[in-house]
Amino acid sequence: MSSELIRHPPAVDKVLAWPAMQALIACHGRTLVLTSLRAGLQQWRQGDFDDDRSLLTWVQADVQRRLAPSFKAVFNLTGTVLHTNLGRAPLPPEAIKAISDVASGASNLEYDLNTGKRGDRDSHVERWICELTGAEAATVVNNNAAAVLLVLNTLARRRQVIVSRGELIEIGGSFRLPDVMERADCKLHEVGTTNRTHAHDFADAVNSRTALLLKAHTSNYAIQGFSQQVGEQELAQIAHQHNLPLVVDLGSGSLIDLRTLGLPAEPVVRDVLAAGVDVVTFSADKLLGGPQAGIIAGRAELISKIRKNPLKRALRCDKLTLAALGAVLKLYANPDTLTLRIPTLRLLTRSQAAIQQTANVLLPSLRDWAGAEFVVDTCEVHSQIGSGSLPLDLLPSVALRLRSAQGNKRTQNRMVRDLALRLRQLPQPVIGRIADDSLLLDCRCVEDAQPLFFQWLGAVAAGSETAT
Ligand SMILES: *Cc1c(COP(=O)(O)O)cnc(C)c1O
Repeated sequence: MSSELIRHPPAVDKVLAWPAMQALIACHGRTLVLTSLRAGLQQWRQGDFDDDRSLLTWVQADVQRRLAPSFKAVFNLTGTVLHTNLGRAPLPPEAIKAISDVASGASNLEYDLNTGKRGDRDSHVERWICELTGAEAATVVNNNAAAVLLVLNTLARRRQVIVSRGELIEIGGSFRLPDVMERADCKLHEVGTTNRTHAHDFADAVNSRTALLLKAHTSNYAIQGFSQQVGEQELAQIAHQHNLPLVVDLGSGSLIDLRTLGLPAEPVVRDVLAAGVDVVTFSADKLLGGPQAGIIAGRAELISKIRKNPLKRALRCDKLTLAALGAVLKLYANPDTLTLRIPTLRLLTRSQAAIQQTANVLLPSLRDWAGAEFVVDTCEVHSQIGSGSLPLDLLPSVALRLRSAQGNKRTQNRMVRDLALRLRQLPQPVIGRIADDSLLLDCRCVEDAQPLFFQWLGAVAAGSETAT
């Protein structure tokens, strides 16, 4: 098409004077509307449209596109409860309230209300951490990776750290112990072999350049068969014989014995410290069920050194995190209500029968939504704890299963992938997982038949969970 045939776009000032554009400006401001208009005129020049009405429609849509949130709530139907990519632990209402209480105004974050002088931001959580773990002192930073970095850099800078070869972990999301150690300016001293490390391997490795012994919880894998690890108690003895500290990176760590809730065992922070470990690090947004943070707990003298490291200033938590963490820790004061009040523990302990009930409620709506090309039913699956907790320990659950009824395997596979995309494009996206040419929506994390979920699936009348 020759360029003469394309109508020239109207002038910017003329378009801005249109009543519809004035309305848009009144709503969103001139700057944003002008940016969209310029982009719209560019589209016009490229030949995408050549009339005023199309330009207006395009600009209106573009303003909406720019303002649409990129970061939003989704439904986690992946079956992985602590999903790192989906934000890990959901927070309890107590934590949300604590955040909102301090978010909009001034707070005593680092202000001692008794003396009227500068206070310490850790003070809002330290007492609770100590009470719940038996630690003498504690401090918190941005996440557990930061906790490990800070501990190593404080206690072992330019010196050697002895670690078992079988514990040189990599956790999803690029946490690799050898790399963190290098950035902490420590020298890694590996001992033992991949499958077996003995106490004497550690004892023989200690020399004048050794700063500490490190044990890392192999949270996301298990070495089975002909294997041996050295326990905390024995390692602590070796460390203390040489006047060295023993540091343990617990990863998840738990404040309670999860076996009492019928869940797989995870190291309990209190037990690990009682075994003689000098400093532990663990995440606040894994099994603890709080906001993203890394907790460092242990001997007062070491924690005090860690707190004075200038890196602490760069790795510290903000007021919102500390508010949420304080609120979650307080819930642990009453262990009897944990599975009710901490969403992570509530979701992990949901019975398969309860999950089946949710699936049954959602089934008809999902069938309507998916259409006749899909076979929709429920099936038994296994959920995972996630966030590096042993992937071998699976929790019995129920999923809604969508399979294509037509075509060959390849078409079916494409249809299922398209369906997964459609669910991800809902106003509140629904994230499932694909297995064996089926789309699985694990219902563990759908606690009640959430009304919005119905609404967006274009469902028939939304019933309550107890209705079926
Ligand atoms: C998860 C994990 C980390 C990293 O913790 P983040 O909170 O993700 O920074 C480090 N070490 C171990 C053993 C872990 O499981």
